[in-house]
Amino acid sequence: MVAELGHFINGKSVSGTSGRLHDIFNPTTGEVQRSVALATRAEVTKAVDAAQEAFYGWSTTNPQKRARVMFKFKELVEKDMDNLAKLLSSEHGKILPDARGDVIRGLDVIEFACGIPHLLKGEYTEAAGSGIDVYSMRQPLGVVSGITPFNFPAMIPMWMFGVAIACGNTFINKPSEKDPSVPLRLAELMMEAGAPEGVLNVVNGDKEAVDAIIEDPRVKAISFVGSSDIAQYIYENGAKNNKRVQAFGGAKNHMIILPDADMDNVVNQLIGSAYGSAGERCMATPVAVPVGEGTAETLISMLKPKVESLRIGPSMSEDSDLGPMVTAAQCERVAGYIQMAVDEGQDLIVDGRDFTLQGYENGFFMGGTLLDNAKPEHKSYREEIFGPVLQIARAANFEEALALPSNHQYGNGVAIFTRNGAAAREFAARVNVGMVGINVPIPVPVAYHTFGGWKRSGFGDTNQHGPEGVKFWTKVKTITQRWPEDVQGSEFVIPTMG
Ligand code: NAD
Repeated sequence: MVAELGHFINGKSVSGTSGRLHDIFNPTTGEVQRSVALATRAEVTKAVDAAQEAFYGWSTTNPQKRARVMFKFKELVEKDMDNLAKLLSSEHGKILPDARGDVIRGLDVIEFACGIPHLLKGEYTEAAGSGIDVYSMRQPLGVVSGITPFNFPAMIPMWMFGVAIACGNTFINKPSEKDPSVPLRLAELMMEAGAPEGVLNVVNGDKEAVDAIIEDPRVKAISFVGSSDIAQYIYENGAKNNKRVQAFGGAKNHMIILPDADMDNVVNQLIGSAYGSAGERCMATPVAVPVGEGTAETLISMLKPKVESLRIGPSMSEDSDLGPMVTAAQCERVAGYIQMAVDEGQDLIVDGRDFTLQGYENGFFMGGTLLDNAKPEHKSYREEIFGPVLQIARAANFEEALALPSNHQYGNGVAIFTRNGAAAREFAARVNVGMVGINVPIPVPVAYHTFGGWKRSGFGDTNQHGPEGVKFWTKVKTITQRWPEDVQGSEFVIPTMG
């Protein structure tokens, strides 16, 4: 019998009641290490009840007190870092230093949320009309929810609930059923930091729980991160149910390599961003675009030995480059895409499909794969693979290179490597993608800027964290006031304040 995880509702861990369970694997050994209960609609309703009950008190707590809870939470997460990183790594499969990075990038947004008193200040116009002042304020929405993916089980929940809770909302996180332990632990730490019961709840589950969140009229907003078809489903159905929705989807990020780029630097950056975390990052670089005569040959000759000698090890390792994939099903899916690419005519330069790690033969390991001559008409190029696979798509010139990411269905991130400032500047201005790196392979913006992709990588019009996050989790109220000394006469025309 393995331990069974439940939910975190109204300040307490509670067991699941549905009898429906999902296995949580240890990707390094391939064994089931625990299971998680999948919530019923009634359990989701309980979480919404608790969040609704907590909302009035929390939203009327002054912003500096809410910020103090965030400060304390940051301190507690830092103290618990080793435990959180091990928990994360043991369920996800990413190597320990990368798991710490997952927590740290989440904490960056918590740090941003500590400045919420300043961020919530409204605007004021004195004497907008005779004796009339106008001011605006940002108010929290109410009960809100975050539905999060497996690949950043610490960072993405913190990106969402950090800003939402600091703004005065109460929150329900529905994490991925593949690695729910870290989100559950974060909720415990939030209570320890002084958040009242019901302010942060975690409901584990699948489509049934998600539909219950979408359909409960008390939930005012949903932030989603995951694959694009589900993002679109959440966006459309959330909107139908009168919710504010932002839904971030899949990605296929390109790295453009101009002929003048420093190739040693390119190869070092590319190997990390393509294969780190076994390619299971929405800001990974699964496509390299060498531009011009000879650039591809140089790139491949330098890259091939590095891909062949990637250090692949158990997730708890400190000195591997990458660990296993999250599930056996994900390995099969990735292997299927590699075969598809071969069948489509791409050249298989390094094949990672037959890799096994000695001593961990049942683990979900894959070696690095390198493919050349990917073309826009290939399905394996058009779709997201989400594994340790790098496809090379050659471009004859700048315009061809610019067209590849710009015309792709996804538009999350893109990078250009060059020594030519004018070319980089033009690329950044013209490319049809949400986040751009110039000689930076994974351009995830810092917490006080804002994160979000375009096209099928992002549905809705407000980004994650930064000032855009504050905007998403609040609504504006504008007040026009007059304190007349004399009784006013009636006015039948629209006031013009002339
Ligand atoms: P996923 O879409 O399978 O799951 C995401 C969430 O949706 C989970 O909580 C899951 O339980 C829930 N879900 C799954 N199927 C559902 C259904 N039919 N109805 C309702 N809810 C459902 O994604 P994943 O495999 O956990 O994560 C990987 C994906 O997330 C990749 O596509 C990756 O690119 C994307 N991602 C995007 C970003 C971004 O910011 N754009 C960031 C991280 C990950």
